[in-house]
Amino acid sequence: MANIRQSPGKTFVVEHLDPELEEWSSLEYFTIASESHDAGARFLLSSVPASLKLPANLQQAKGLNIETRGIEEIYASSKDKVCLLDPAASKDLSPEDGDTFDIFLFGGILGDDPPRDRTSELRKKGYQGRRLGPVQMTTDTAVRVTRIVVQDRVPVDKIPYIDHPELRINKNESTEMPFRYVKGSDGQPIMPQGMVDLIKKDSEKGLGDLL
Ligand code: SAM
Repeated sequence: MANIRQSPGKTFVVEHLDPELEEWSSLEYFTIASESHDAGARFLLSSVPASLKLPANLQQAKGLNIETRGIEEIYASSKDKVCLLDPAASKDLSPEDGDTFDIFLFGGILGDDPPRDRTSELRKKGYQGRRLGPVQMTTDTAVRVTRIVVQDRVPVDKIPYIDHPELRINKNESTEMPFRYVKGSDGQPIMPQGMVDLIKKDSEKGLGDLL
């Protein structure tokens, strides 16, 4: 059997940067929580306003830890152990970064096209940054890829991806997702459960608004 080196469980922190919690984010956070739980990693959703009511299914997610405090307060004494996953960083994440950092930080923001660089809100706090390649990922994909790199020790450019997949909305319409996803064992992009239906619902609503 191949001798696969594994790093011990890490902490993945998503700093929620929106005042509201969109259904898209809720599905992403649910997926991050359950995958982290299954992979022996810790997931912290930080900076959640006390007034924000989380949907019941998210509250029940295995592996979800909620924090009203922000990253700076929670890890005030271990800033050098925090790595910000930053699309604008000059260096890509490597398996060896798993030996340097214990905490991996992500922006809890929905992707946008073109990207508005809201990750800069975390960058200005001064954490060391690493990129996950040149293409924008959804937050759950970014956490998944980071876990594969630092825990399973697979280089970022050796992970199979699908860029900008096209989703069929109905027999006449399709929509292109402007993100990079990890390719699953079924050859399809890995997305949170319920995401394809939500995208279809939102796209049809968008089309309906035009009529
Ligand atoms: N358009 C966005 C922005 O305004 O910065 C990107 C948001 S992305 C959906 C959410 C988070 O995933 C980012 O804040 C970052 O932590 C992580 N992320 C996504 N793609 C990445 C990449 N290629 N390299 C590093 N981090 C990435």
